[in-house]
Amino acid sequence: MKPNGRRQFLGKALLGTLGLPLLSEPAQALVSKLNPADPAAAAVGYVEDATKVDVSKFPTYKRGQSCANCTLLRPQYIGPYRPCKLFPKNVISVKGWCNAWVKNPQL
Ligand code: SF4
Repeated sequence: MKPNGRRQFLGKALLGTLGLPLLSEPAQALVSKLNPADPAAAAVGYVEDATKVDVSKFPTYKRGQSCANCTLLRPQYIGPYRPCKLFPKNVISVKGWCNAWVKNPQL
């Protein structure tokens, strides 16, 4: 193992021992995926694939909008499913969308 690799391994092992979440691990390992059928998710039209938005129900949706460029997505995580401030107990698909979408001004 290279010195940097060993240092990273030891750092992760220490954080794991302390019970702290590892920011570099997929967020989906921390909590469950948000079910689009969940009443709170359905209320805002959450879908795992933004191309599947029912625009007759959610006409505010514009092509190109997704959780990946929403300001409510928590940026400190990586992976296809990540935490969102709107659904703190679940992770959401970065390809998804909901009616609470707000453009991330940094993207
Ligand atoms: S608030 Fe934003 S990041 Fe969260 S589910 Fe809705 S569109 Fe996705």
